[in-house]
Amino acid sequence: MLRNGLYIIATPIGNLQDISPRAVEILRQADIIACEDTRVSKKLFSLLGLPLDKKFIRYEDHTEAKQAQNLIDLINEGTSVALISDAGSPLISDPGYKLVRKCREQSIYVTAIPGACAVITALQLSGLPTNRFMFAGFIPNKDKARIDLFNELKSTDTTLIFYETAPRLLKTLEQAAPIFAGREIAVARELTKMYEEVISGAIAEVKAYFEQNEPRGEFVLMIAPPIDNSNNTADIRLILQKRLQETSLKSAVKEICAQYGLSKNEVYALALELKNE
Ligand code: SAM
Repeated sequence: MLRNGLYIIATPIGNLQDISPRAVEILRQADIIACEDTRVSKKLFSLLGLPLDKKFIRYEDHTEAKQAQNLIDLINEGTSVALISDAGSPLISDPGYKLVRKCREQSIYVTAIPGACAVITALQLSGLPTNRFMFAGFIPNKDKARIDLFNELKSTDTTLIFYETAPRLLKTLEQAAPIFAGREIAVARELTKMYEEVISGAIAEVKAYFEQNEPRGEFVLMIAPPIDNSNNTADIRLILQKRLQETSLKSAVKEICAQYGLSKNEVYALALELKNE
């Protein structure tokens, strides 16, 4: 029998087999399943061959504060509550944080059973630096909010990771291009599923790929850290070379000066040299 408390359980993000035996056992034994969508979670139970003779309670973002206390009351009455999301790790762009916080404040037993998480799986496959990364959640859907967020994060010296949806991917890449000019990106899609793929390269290359191949499914966008600002001429040369293939000389020079704080004359001269090579 499980001790009373909260069990945060990761479920698969596409491949049913990506759930640990411990997670399955706790789902079998828990008295209450707190979940985003009871239909999705009951389907998962059926696929895993787990009994449905327990209480499934909907737990959502906008009702989180009130719901959290209801669940805590149930735990205090002696029940075990398993928190799951529709897919992946709860709390990661999914509800749960306020519940965990309240449990900790009230000294209630909380544990996590780790497993699939799209951020980590995408980063592992991206080929981008993994020593420091920043997960920034979903990209806002309003143009201004998106551009503001990109500008806010562009100098952050880590790999940046975002969740994105298929219909918005191309627009996001278009707006990211001038702000993250010269940086490598990777787009991971349908991780752990049949059509899993990771496309990486310059923003323009990745965008061109998805213009040819309509974005479908679930996406993670990753952006490489900024290149060392220490006037590494070899790096600037490479970046400029790439940008000259993608945009006009004037725009390329403007972007690179703005991004790396270099003098216009210097970059202009280098751009002319590269054009004439
Ligand atoms: N908590 C989940 C996790 O651990 O990854 C994420 C939940 S969030 C509501 C859903 C978003 O995660 C999707 O819109 C997509 O950006 C990303 N995602 C989830 N599963 C994915 C997959 N199999 N491949 C790529 N991205 C995925």
